[in-house]
Amino acid sequence: MSEWFEEGLHLHGSGHGYAQRFQVTKEIYREKTEFQDLVIFETPTFGRVLALDGVIQTTEKDEFIYHEMMAHVPIIAHGNAKNVLIIGGGDGGVLREVLKHPLVSPTMVELDRSVVDLCIEYMPSLSDGAFENPRTELLITDGIKFVAEIDRQFDVIIVDSTDPIGPGEVLFTEAFYKDCKRCLGDNGILITQNGVPIFQPDEVTTTFRRLSPHFKDASFFVAPIPTYVGGYMTLGWATMNKTLRQHSTAILEERVVPLSLQTKYYNAAVHNAAFALPEYIKNLKI
Ligand code: SAM
Repeated sequence: MSEWFEEGLHLHGSGHGYAQRFQVTKEIYREKTEFQDLVIFETPTFGRVLALDGVIQTTEKDEFIYHEMMAHVPIIAHGNAKNVLIIGGGDGGVLREVLKHPLVSPTMVELDRSVVDLCIEYMPSLSDGAFENPRTELLITDGIKFVAEIDRQFDVIIVDSTDPIGPGEVLFTEAFYKDCKRCLGDNGILITQNGVPIFQPDEVTTTFRRLSPHFKDASFFVAPIPTYVGGYMTLGWATMNKTLRQHSTAILEERVVPLSLQTKYYNAAVHNAAFALPEYIKNLKI
């Protein structure tokens, strides 16, 4: 590896001629797994970084923003979540946050066991013991196959996928969303990672069009994650119950405070504010 890692996600893929690069102080591990090219490297600013197929997945320094928002927003909004399905998320960050809810039993469906094993070994703060928690059920299989075949209801489904290229592409299809809907009760909530709209505007529009036929309320909330470069990232939100994204900060506070979640980004006010979409993102819901 050169002493810099350049992420080309917005260089070639989306044709924007833009790249971010990290100084690499040490390459920790590299493997061509059964499904993707995996590399973990050390950087001066962001600690250890995981990349799959050349795309940044997570960093030790800023992972908390994304993982806290993916986990706590739907669980707190639901108000009585017990069964939570995570699809993807092999680094264990979403799982770690979901487990902060003592009544929740998470099921995690990850395609690539190598991501789980290598992140436990080389980036242990991400899962922080979550895979050993007796409440965790880990299944190694394709998420699209799992939701197509399973006859089980979940309160929340969190899709922590790679970008819609490679093995994660199927997790952005309408068929997948339709199967997720079948696995959710009336108050169930589906959350997806939806890219950074300044670079990937079509992802927002496409997801909105694919979710809308199946859910009464399809929308997005936002969080700024420095290494998902480009300002706000959109996180997809879909449910049959329109009231679930209209809770006041006071109601959210009543649910959040007793849990003592020990978060670094998420709180009730941030939860509420995350649903306020800037015009350039709102205008992509067409
Ligand atoms: N937070 C990251 C992001 O926004 O880019 C995603 C991180 S997580 C490491 C992504 C995981 O999705 C990877 O571990 C990958 O193996 C998994 N994945 C990709 N396609 C999948 C599929 N079809 N079913 C289940 N997991 C999948």
